[in-house]
Amino acid sequence: MTKTVLVTGGTRGIGRAISEMMKAKGYKVAANYGGNDEAAKQCEKETGIKCYKFDVSDYDAVGKGLAAIEADLGPIDIVVNNAGVTRDAPFHKMSLDQWQQVIDIDLTSAFNVTRQVWEGMRERGFGRVINISSINGQKGQFGQANYSAAKAGLIGFTKALAQEGAKKGITVNVVCPGYIDTEMVQAVPEKVLESIIASIPVGRLGKAEEIASMCAYLSSDEAAFITGATMTVNGAQYIAG
Ligand code: NDP
Repeated sequence: MTKTVLVTGGTRGIGRAISEMMKAKGYKVAANYGGNDEAAKQCEKETGIKCYKFDVSDYDAVGKGLAAIEADLGPIDIVVNNAGVTRDAPFHKMSLDQWQQVIDIDLTSAFNVTRQVWEGMRERGFGRVINISSINGQKGQFGQANYSAAKAGLIGFTKALAQEGAKKGITVNVVCPGYIDTEMVQAVPEKVLESIIASIPVGRLGKAEEIASMCAYLSSDEAAFITGATMTVNGAQYIAG
């Protein structure tokens, strides 16, 4: 049976590359997004992948979105929790709103989505959960106390959930991209970006497809024994112990 994949934030950037690669591998794919209808329309037109608008930080909206996807494509077997935002500020200037938005969209979203597909995965005895964290959740980053906290939270979430899913055929892994050439990174001031690239031993930004291929591998039957793992994809910018 063809498996169904949900990629949150799957209409742009890294998420779109994941959606496209999963489609190319033969999966049924649903791409979620938050508000950018233009990007979603473009994604649907160019890829033929159906896009579903709901806010991953809203538990009830997620429930409705998942129901719509499952009505169209069948039970969700694979979830890539990829949607994320940044609201950077040095901590002494960070507002509660900046903190809360990033925690809600980058971390609580993974609870909202995974919690509502988890029982189905347990019943069917198969599941793949892939959480997209960040190099900055591993090492911390100046100006990103909110984002680093949320992304580090995803790593702990993964490690706990992997233990709970193991006996039910569910693997749970986390991917930590380094700096990848997407709109999120293009928004970084040029001078800062130059210094970031200089700190990447491979000497360039990563490509969205390089994150997508890791997700495709973790989704596969060949990866059944990999669970609870933190997969670093960063051109040796940060080598975690
Ligand atoms: P983009 O900004 O290019 O795309 C973000 C996607 O997430 C969009 O599809 C967006 O939808 C969606 N999204 C944002 N908020 C919500 C929401 N509340 N509900 C549903 N969907 C939402 O991001 P990237 O591709 O750069 O990043 C993808 C992931 O990878 C993020 O989690 C990011 O933190 C992580 N990451 C990125 C790195 C990079 O270098 N780019 C490095 C390390 C990690 P819409 O179009 O509607 O706004």
